[in-house]
Amino acid sequence: MADKVRIFDTTLRDGEQSPGASMNVEEKLRVAGQLARLGVDVIEAGFAFSSPGDFEAVRRIAHEIEGPVVCSLARAKPEDIEAAWNALKGAPRPRIHTFISTSDIHLGYQFRLTREEALERAVEMVRMAKGYVDDVEFSPMDASRTELAYLYEVIEAVIEAGATTVNIPDTVGYALPQQFGELIKGIRDNVPNIDRAVISVHCHNDLGLAVANSLSAVINGARQVECTVNGIGERAGNASLEEIVMIIKTRKDLLGLDTSVVTEQLYPTSRLVSGITGIMVQPNKAIVGDNAFAHESGIHQDGLLKEKTTYEIMSPESVGLQQSTLVLGKHSGRHAFKTRLKELGYELGDDELNKAFERFKRLADKKKEVFDEDIEAIVQDEVLRIEMPDKYRLVKLSASSGTEVQPRAVVEMEVDGKVLEEEGVGDGPVDAVFKAISSITGTKSRLLRYSVSAITGGTDAQGEVSVRLEEDGHVVLGRGAHTDIIVASAKAYINALNRLEYKKQETRERLV
Ligand code: MN
Repeated sequence: MADKVRIFDTTLRDGEQSPGASMNVEEKLRVAGQLARLGVDVIEAGFAFSSPGDFEAVRRIAHEIEGPVVCSLARAKPEDIEAAWNALKGAPRPRIHTFISTSDIHLGYQFRLTREEALERAVEMVRMAKGYVDDVEFSPMDASRTELAYLYEVIEAVIEAGATTVNIPDTVGYALPQQFGELIKGIRDNVPNIDRAVISVHCHNDLGLAVANSLSAVINGARQVECTVNGIGERAGNASLEEIVMIIKTRKDLLGLDTSVVTEQLYPTSRLVSGITGIMVQPNKAIVGDNAFAHESGIHQDGLLKEKTTYEIMSPESVGLQQSTLVLGKHSGRHAFKTRLKELGYELGDDELNKAFERFKRLADKKKEVFDEDIEAIVQDEVLRIEMPDKYRLVKLSASSGTEVQPRAVVEMEVDGKVLEEEGVGDGPVDAVFKAISSITGTKSRLLRYSVSAITGGTDAQGEVSVRLEEDGHVVLGRGAHTDIIVASAKAYINALNRLEYKKQETRERLV
């Protein structure tokens, strides 16, 4: 049997630190459920101490999601370890992941700790975590810029104190593949008790090397890779899960390694995460980008038609890209709809399914053919946000525009259950609608971005609108889909305003 590389997914922790990517508890649970189907070994569900929302997400994922180990991040501080344990206790497979910086740059300028103090703190906190759980992971933050002899000393001491995984982060994305591989080899050669722990790596993509660095570490003996779906994360992001997994699978001939990931779930997982976070996948992204399997050149197409392996190193089906173009329409029944949803990675409860099916029927009445993208938009629009408390709700709107008239809109909304109406005048109908909504809600938010795209071809296509708002440093993204782009725009704006309320609420709770 090939040696196994553990896949540690941190989409819900580091991935959520992408600007504007915050998810609520229900959304995190849904992603976690999909990560379990994907077959990851560990889910880092959040940072329990950081906010009540994160605490609740860690607690519910740890208790409700079956299969993977569920982990909470904790700084090397007693209150953090305590919060992680409170969220995890009683769960079937808990892990506490604690960390402290070890580089002189971080210790000297940021934390004002001596090396001795940091080492002592690391050991103490690993011991404390070990008092609660068997499965303890420790990270020396900024490891790739830490003096080697000291790094070895810290790793040996935390393993002695009970750490079962030691994670080597390239926190700032500074390492080069060969250098990072040698770092891992150095740890194996110089830390006497290293065989008692799994070596993990956590690479950032600031120079575009997160996957290459992780792979080099694996070649040199690392057996856990921390990564995220679509490579999202702090700044330029983390190592991309789907790339790591497919490299190990496709080049098994050379690497002789394996993961537990069900690769057919990669594409549905990617879609789900981009749908929920609003962070689109670039078309040329390896494995899950729209063009990843699209062959344009005539010579390539000719070769493919004669024999697939001429230009295809892995099949689209192996990453879960559905080749079937089964199109749903108004005669499609619940069963076909449900089956399609499942193929797209959405396992819905009965209520959710009813809601989505109703919306699907309404859409199918307006639009002859309903494509996968339409179904995804329905689920994201209708189902994924039902759990979020909505302060604002659209009741109705009408807008007029043309070549000879001043664009106007009348919007009726419910604010905390009270119905309010306003008229707006603007440069165009969307502008007029936004002005009306902003005067009803009195929002102080700033619009950072507005974009609209047609979900599928044809003028009867649904328009999908995304709106990015900022207020007091909170950045949120709202989305809305409708066959009328003015309505889609209003929905996206209101969705963003609701998310902003949710964020502000969470921050208030955190301050208490
Ligand atoms: Mn990170």
